[in-house]
Amino acid sequence: MQDNQTDKCPLCGRPLAEPSNKHHLIPISKGGRHTPTLMMHKICHNKIHAVFTEMELKRYYHTIERLQEHEDIAKFIKWVRNKEPEFYDSSVKMKK
Ligand SMILES: [Zn+2]
Ligand SMILES: [Zn+2]
Repeated sequence: MQDNQTDKCPLCGRPLAEPSNKHHLIPISKGGRHTPTLMMHKICHNKIHAVFTEMELKRYYHTIERLQEHEDIAKFIKWVRNKEPEFYDSSVKMKK
C-alpha cells in the first residue's frame, strides 16, 4: 500500500471518480502482490490491461512513465482527457 497518492488518476491526470480501482504495477500473478498499487479510473485501468499482457507489465511497463510513453496509451490519454471523470465505456476491455 502507498498512501502518498493524490486524488488524481496517475495515468490520465484527471480527478479520480467512480468507477475506479487499483492497478498493481507488477501483476499479482507475476509476483507483484506486495508491490505498490495505484488507484485509477476503471477505464484507464482497463486500457492498460487491453494493451499490455501481464508479462509485458512485469518485464518493462511497471512504471507510469513507461505506460504513458506507449503510443496506444498516449492516444487513449488524449481521448479520455476530454471525458467526464465518471465516464466509463465497457468497450475498453481487459485482455485475458
Ligand atoms: Zn484516469
Ligand atoms: Zn491492473
